Amino acid sequence: APNGRGNKDDIGMGARAHFVFVPLMYQGHVIPAVDTALLLATHGALASVVATPYNAARIRPTIDSARRSGLPIRLVELPLDCAGVGLPDDADDVDRIPLGLEPNYFRALALLAGPLERHLRAHPPHPTCIVSDFCHTWTVGVAASLGVPRLSFFSMCAFCLLCQHNVERYNAYDGVADDNEPVVVPGLEKRVVVTRAQAPGFFRAPGFEELADEIERARADADGVVMNSFLEMDPEYVAGYSEARKMKVWTIGPVSLYHQHAATLAARGNTAAATVDADDCLRWLQGKEANTVLYVSFGSIVHADPKQVVELGLGLEASGHPFIWVLKKADQYGEAVREFLRDLEERIAGRGMLIRGWAPQVLILSHAAVGGFVTHCGWNSTLEGITAGLPLVTWPHFSDQFLNEKLAVEVLGIGVSVGVKEPLVWQAEKKEIVVGREVVEAAVRSIMDGGEEGEERRRKALALSGKARAAVQEGGSSLANLLDLIKRFEVDAGDRTTE
Ligand code: UDP
Repeated sequence: APNGRGNKDDIGMGARAHFVFVPLMYQGHVIPAVDTALLLATHGALASVVATPYNAARIRPTIDSARRSGLPIRLVELPLDCAGVGLPDDADDVDRIPLGLEPNYFRALALLAGPLERHLRAHPPHPTCIVSDFCHTWTVGVAASLGVPRLSFFSMCAFCLLCQHNVERYNAYDGVADDNEPVVVPGLEKRVVVTRAQAPGFFRAPGFEELADEIERARADADGVVMNSFLEMDPEYVAGYSEARKMKVWTIGPVSLYHQHAATLAARGNTAAATVDADDCLRWLQGKEANTVLYVSFGSIVHADPKQVVELGLGLEASGHPFIWVLKKADQYGEAVREFLRDLEERIAGRGMLIRGWAPQVLILSHAAVGGFVTHCGWNSTLEGITAGLPLVTWPHFSDQFLNEKLAVEVLGIGVSVGVKEPLVWQAEKKEIVVGREVVEAAVRSIMDGGEEGEERRRKALALSGKARAAVQEGGSSLANLLDLIKRFEVDAGDRTTE
């Protein structure tokens, strides 16, 4: 059907650019991809989001409600062949991938290439651009075969990307024997010190050797970068990364600001298994004074060690501040930890709230009562904290989180570190790194009532929040980039073919 005519689904037929988002099927990747798709659709482009069944179920309510309100957005659900790569059937839920079999999961994802291409050919309009998570190397072939450009999507910051890039480009770890030896990141004006343990490179882990190289090639060959970040936060690093990669970087964030209503925020990234009612959270926060509540969460992957749960709980209690603490997979703890949590809840009734499972994070962070964020420094969480104008207690676990911590503490001046120096490996053997209750208490006190220094951090955080919000508004850099992106990939409706 040339020009997309004859398609039963007339949503988006007026759109002249069609972006196909292919996120990695982890919450930290799916959520910002969906937000970006929604933003593009708001400005008239057709956006399709590809998801495997488990993830499609999570985002369908958000996409369906956007469609009902007339936005040109589609969900493309493709089955994941787990059995074919030796994974259990339920491994589409990444929490259920057996330890050590993560590389197989990436093999299963690569098998989506054929079905995706067939789907896109069968459902016009022809894409004008594939926006692929940078981890998906198989989308290179899909884009080539469809004859369309492919952009790399990052929910990461330019500071992190440039540091990691320079370390590798200048072989900064050559001759460094110890993973914990400090190394200065080459090619930067600012002195940034990392270790190989903290910044090994993306997917530089056992079992991923081939994939890591492929990812690097796919990143180098991309037609541009779409980044969930905003220019005013770290402009020299955005420019530096663009120059290093010799490609256009569209910073279009913070994408969480797409959501302006409690209802869509409560549904963001939500699962059917959401464990807390958003209204209950809001009611609880309503009674608290401005900037007094601490929000504590380690994102969608980290499942805290039992000993750590106890130390963290006691540290929060000792800090004297009200808090909301999110515990992922709380039902998997043994009886001792569960009892500890029940007792803690009794002692802190009214002052502390425990959420066991999924929390409406951005809804909570944007509430005036919240005044600080204890975060694992996943990029989405870090940016959401920045957007809310909050000082951070930084507690990185793995991946880009150590570099995000450096950005928050050393570049932006809005964070206090708990002092973790090496990663808690999330796939292989688990290192036991437990942060003591006194350290937790001290870090919390220093962001919540840290005197002059504390005030300075809060002032900087608020200024950044203002810049973040301005970026997505009329005249702002992120909105301008978003519109530029659409314009760049618009086609004359008459030119569109579906082959
Ligand atoms: N998130 C949420 N509720 C939760 C846990 C996480 O809404 O209970 C969201 C959070 O707002 C963020 C994403 O999930 O958008 C987590 O991404 P991030 O990069 O912070 O960390 P990751 O989960 O990838 O480690």
